[in-house]
Parts: sequence; structure tokens; C-alpha cells
Amino acid sequence: MKKIIQLLTTASLLITTANANWFNNDDKPKPESTIQNNKTYTLKLAETWPSNYPIFGDTTKKFKKLAETMSGGRLKIRIDSANKHKAAFGIFDFVKSGQYDLGHSGSYYWKGKDINTLFFTNMPFDMTTDEQHAWFEYGGGQELMDKVYAKHGMKSIIGGNTGNQMGGWFKKEINSVKDLQGLKMRIPGFAGEIMAEVGAKPTNIPTGELYTALDRGTIDALEWVGPSLDLRMGFHKIAPYYYTGWHEPGAELQFLINLKKYNTLPKNLQAILISAMKLSAYQMYNQSEHESAKNLAIMKKDYPNIKIKTFPKSVFNVLHKANNKLLKELAAKNTLSKEIIESRSNYLKKIRAWTTISDQSYLNSQSNIDK
Ligand code: CA
Repeated sequence: MKKIIQLLTTASLLITTANANWFNNDDKPKPESTIQNNKTYTLKLAETWPSNYPIFGDTTKKFKKLAETMSGGRLKIRIDSANKHKAAFGIFDFVKSGQYDLGHSGSYYWKGKDINTLFFTNMPFDMTTDEQHAWFEYGGGQELMDKVYAKHGMKSIIGGNTGNQMGGWFKKEINSVKDLQGLKMRIPGFAGEIMAEVGAKPTNIPTGELYTALDRGTIDALEWVGPSLDLRMGFHKIAPYYYTGWHEPGAELQFLINLKKYNTLPKNLQAILISAMKLSAYQMYNQSEHESAKNLAIMKKDYPNIKIKTFPKSVFNVLHKANNKLLKELAAKNTLSKEIIESRSNYLKKIRAWTTISDQSYLNSQSNIDK
């Protein structure tokens, strides 16, 4: 009898070990004992935005609610806005150092820290929101972003898209590239580099200081987002020329995760964390589109002084030429930059061929109907 029990115990141990090995493969579900781990994890998130900033701030609040609800309270998220941590552009360092576990910001704000973070918000003359989402999920975008951020002990996940952004608010009309020369403009990311190349003076300024900077003449022009967020900022009172976009055809915010902290979480909580980020990002894109449509209608009805314009072709040609030159220089300087630039441009070619015969043909055909 004793021997039988011994045999059964050994067999059961073998099965348990086999199961454990089987389930330890990352793609496989975990045993019940791991799933029922009741330990609570509190994660601190720092965001670039001021307290209760609409749409961007709504996104972190939605993320918090989703993560806490889906985890049955085992994940607790604490959000600190820029008013609290006092460093709108400190998010990268906060999360890298572990001072905060999570962040919500824009990848291109870190181009001075690591040039390859530049590519994961959006690029001028590049992919639209839908095109770029496909690149992130299926075109190797997430893998490249992982490669860039792993060097800093972090992971970056899509954090909500603004949709196609407007080219910005100007005090004067832009009739030729001469009108951009010497122009002090808040414009971050690669578009800022392009503006510098054509003779403008680009700068980046935190959200909460934009209006004052424009009002006091620290800057002559600025781009922020689009009708979704621009109208409430009041820029039109100072700079009524509102230009259509070219520089951020689908700007994606980012969630940052400290990898060391992430690796302490059970796999199911990791999955919940990422899912909550992606779902709140999806909600932000929809909210951005909704708010832009709503506010564009208000602009047209209540603010006749706002003049919506598009840069002349000659200006686009110069900007586009500068874009190509600077991309070439960047690719020659850094092998990972080259890899990302090629990935984006190859993917753009492939997906734009489809966008052209799907969305573009549809929209063109609709605008040609007699109404
Ligand atoms: Ca922008």
C-alpha cells in the first residue's frame, strides 16, 4: 500500500512538473494557483498633461478604471498630472528610473534623449491613424518600439490617437516659404526639424503654457492638435489663420511602462494592463474624432473670424523636400533609425496603395455626387 501511495505521489509530482513546464511557456494559460493570486499591485502613473485635461486626461482615467475593474481590484492605478509632479516633459526619466511605474505622454518628446523615440508618434507626410495602427500591430511597429524602449528598461504601448492634426494657428497668412522664415513656432517632433531646415525657429512648450507664449509673443505661431482640443485653448483670439495638416496625419500618444516593475506582475495582470491601455487608446481615437467634428461645427457657426486655410503647393514642396533630406541624413547617422525609417516607408507604400483605392476613392466619389 505504502509503495502504491509512493508511486502515486511520484506520478502526481511528475504530472504537476510537466504541467508547470507546459504552462510556463509564455503563450499558455497559467495554472489556477497563479491566477488566484490575490496580491494587490499599486502602479503610479505620471502624465504630461495638466490636471483634468480633456481627452488626453480622460484617457488615463479610462485606463485606470478599466485596469482596476478587469483585475478585480488587484491593480490599483494612481495618476499624477503635471500640476502634481511639476515636470511635463519628465515622464521618460520618471518611468526609466522607476520613480513612476507608468507614464502617459508622446514618444517624440524624447527625441533629445534617444533619437529613435521620434518615430512612434507619427511622422510628417506619413501614415494616417488607421495606416499607422496597422503598422504597429501587424507591420513590425510594436517590435521596433520594443527594441528602442528596451534599451531604457521600458516598454511603450499605443496611448490614444488624435486623428489627423491641423497644421496650426498663425497670426498671418502663409503665402510662400518666405513667410515661415524667422517664424517662432511651437512645433515638436520631426516637423520641428523640418521647420528649422526651411528657416523657421521651432520650439516645444508644455500644454499649460501655450496660450501665454502665443499671447506674449514668445512664439508667433503654434500647432497643438485639432478642433478637438484647440478651440477651448483660445488660440483663435490671437492667431486666426488655422492651417490644415501635413505634419501629424495620425499622432499617437504613448503609455510607458517600467519593465522591471512590469516583470514583477503575474502574466494575467500584465495582459490586463496592456489590454486596458489599448482599449483606452481606442476610446481616445473615437473621442478625438467626435470632439473634432463637434468643435469644427461650433467654429464655423460661432467663430467667423477663424480662417481655415491650406498651405500653397509651393510651401508643401519645400517642406517635403526638407523632410526627405533630413530623413536621409538621419538614416545615414544611425542604423536603428535607418531600420525604422525603412520599415515605415515600406509599409506606407503598401498600405497607401490600399487606402487610395478604398477610402480615397470612396471619398472622392462621394464629393462628386450632385447634392
Ligand atoms: Ca501636435
